[in-house]
Amino acid sequence: RDSCVSDSSDSVISSGSDAENQLYKVVLLGEHGVGKSSLARIFGGVEEAHDSEETGNTYDRSVMVDEEEASILLYDVWEQDNSPWLKEQCMKMGDAYIIVYSVTDKSSFEKASELRIQLRRARQSENIPIILVGNKSDLVRSREVSKDEGSACAVVFDCKFIETSASLHHNVLDLFQGIVRQVRLRRDTKEE
Ligand code: GDP
Ligand code: MG
Repeated sequence: RDSCVSDSSDSVISSGSDAENQLYKVVLLGEHGVGKSSLARIFGGVEEAHDSEETGNTYDRSVMVDEEEASILLYDVWEQDNSPWLKEQCMKMGDAYIIVYSVTDKSSFEKASELRIQLRRARQSENIPIILVGNKSDLVRSREVSKDEGSACAVVFDCKFIETSASLHHNVLDLFQGIVRQVRLRRDTKEE
């Protein structure tokens, strides 16, 4: 067999086929206007046909990552309503989180830190994969948060970091592949 070494043990333990399609629930968090829905629509392959401010969407898509298929259920529901119940559910239900800020908006960056802290509180004993995303990297002249600040913050908060531009479709696929890799890493070490 030519499958990679790390697969051998858990493919035996898990139910049957080693090509088993893993489903990952990924939740988008972040302040209003940072680009969550734009990123989600690109991921979902939905063109921005109508400029409606729709909230509360879920996108389902399979991606190939490292020659293994993964299904992502992406929740863009953080701003769906303001009920504390929904926020609480969001903090509970994710297998992984994408915390988005805009590089053109310092306060959204500060909000991202708050969200990271809230998430840690909600899921204390768990080691959940999180990617901090600095979106709108195309807006060079109105940048308020440097790439270094972003990555330094990610180090402090013990999560991954990537800058994206939803407008240019830059790094968006990398972001979602990164999330899958993070979840797999956690899963594989847990099953040791
Ligand atoms: P949300 O409130 O977090 O869901 O943010 P939206 O996805 O609705 O985006 C808010 C606004 O920012 C919209 O007008 C988007 O077109 C714009 N936007 C989102 N991502 C980018 C980006 O990467 N670059 C630029 N220039 N604008 C963006
Ligand atoms: Mg939105």
